[in-house]
Amino acid sequence: MTTKLDQNTIRAKIAKLSLPTLAFIDGKDSPSSDGNTQCPINPANGRPLAQVAACTHQDVDRAIQAARRAFEQGCWSRLHPSDRKKVMLKFVDLVEKHSTELALMDSLSAGKPISDTIGIDLPDTVACLQWHAELVDKLYDKTAPTGLSNPCMIVREPIGVVGLIVPWNFPVQMAAWKLGPALAAGNSVVLKPASQTPFSAIRLAQLAWQAGLPPGVFNVIPGEGSTVGKAICCHMDVDMVAFTGSTEIGRQLLRYSAHSNLKRVILELGGKSPQIVFADAPDLDLVAQHVANAAFWNMGENCSCGSRLIVQANVKDELLQRVIKQVRSWPVGDPLDPKTRLGPLITSAHMYKVLDYITAGTQEGARCLLGGNQILQDTGGWFVEATIFDQVQNHMRIAREEIFGPVLSIMTFDTEDQAIRLANDTNYGLAASLYTTDISRANRVARALRAGTVSVNCYSEGDVTTPFGGFKESGLFGRDKSIYAHLQYTELKTIWMQLL
Ligand code: NAD
Ligand code: MG
Repeated sequence: MTTKLDQNTIRAKIAKLSLPTLAFIDGKDSPSSDGNTQCPINPANGRPLAQVAACTHQDVDRAIQAARRAFEQGCWSRLHPSDRKKVMLKFVDLVEKHSTELALMDSLSAGKPISDTIGIDLPDTVACLQWHAELVDKLYDKTAPTGLSNPCMIVREPIGVVGLIVPWNFPVQMAAWKLGPALAAGNSVVLKPASQTPFSAIRLAQLAWQAGLPPGVFNVIPGEGSTVGKAICCHMDVDMVAFTGSTEIGRQLLRYSAHSNLKRVILELGGKSPQIVFADAPDLDLVAQHVANAAFWNMGENCSCGSRLIVQANVKDELLQRVIKQVRSWPVGDPLDPKTRLGPLITSAHMYKVLDYITAGTQEGARCLLGGNQILQDTGGWFVEATIFDQVQNHMRIAREEIFGPVLSIMTFDTEDQAIRLANDTNYGLAASLYTTDISRANRVARALRAGTVSVNCYSEGDVTTPFGGFKESGLFGRDKSIYAHLQYTELKTIWMQLL
């Protein structure tokens, strides 16, 4: 998680950085149809970053027409798999070469620590795009056991025009988790980045173009969710929308689909993930590192944030001391300083929402052990201290609602059954982790937890080969990463033949 870049090199690179500000439609940079712009703000200092095209319905229409035309022409959708792979791999190469630039864009616009964007987000982005690129010419279709006179093929085909709508917390990485499989499968895509973090997505499209992706195959439309996002989701000529974002907007997408053309909808949503620590956990110092990381990595602005620590009562004090020591050692401040581990929250409105949750925690009777305040006001940025609440009851708002900030709630248990019940007593089901040296218990509890990813003796979201997505209100119909992600960007077709 450390980066080789020092702060001076980073400053020099930023001085030379050019932020892309136009939409990318049909292979060209384009302003919005009405010339309007919108200005993302640097959350570390409250200053404007650049005026970015605020796109309209007309721009969405134009991108979808270009995407459809490219799809029908077959310049990508019917390209020989090995040729599609070659272009994808060239794209991967360019993304890798431009990693620092893309990392800086995400750190500047989302306030993400540069050591995380360079050390985690970009390597994961490259790995994901590469894995899906390499898959292109390694997948086989099937034949069915239909007898000699009726040969029958079951084939996978690209779906068509796919809308990709992504959030601000991992801008380039969430885009890659969807772009990789969608493009590899032969679709044309229209990507809508979050309005706070449009830069890396636009840059990705320019790099893909440079790699030889035909015009219209990869379009990026920056703008508001309520205009651009909604227009994509309600469009009659979009075949699928893959979404990562809040559960609230995810619900709306199902309505948009129902009221338009029943486009396929894949939802990756919020979470309230438990971390269960049993008294026989292997090494409490190590557990404390994982617990702190799960709760506070990316300022808790993480869908799989381990925001509920469920610890066996007889080790609570010992563990808590260690977690607090860990968290106190995390440098807070300028995201562009390679030492920083906690940057600002995304917007002032979001910071106030997080502070309101902290107030609600105290009012509902939880005890604030650490943090609880806004800090570094003189920077002009939106920083909140890493905050830990003890004596949390699972009915309290801080235990039930996704805060999406640096707030950890602690609850205790005595028996394994109680731990499982507490962990599963949530509307969400994205991730969970558990710590124990008892392998039978690890297996039992991992099976009992209702979550899409369960990590044992660590905090992990798996890697590019493992599917990632949620149970319950954390997701619907799909997964990011792995072959499961690839398949969901395809349609299944049966070709039944009668031999004459
Ligand atoms: P959000 O739901 O507000 O926005 C997500 C995207 O949807 C943005 O691009 C936004 O502009 C767009 N959007 C907003 N309104 C829309 C509408 N009416 N129609 C279509 N699109 C619309 O989420 P956010 O605040 O950007 O991100 C935080 C949320 O994302 C959290 O809930 C977090 O848990 C979730 N998330 C989930 C995962 C996962 O893999 N499950 C990963 C990262 C983030
Ligand atoms: Mg939002």
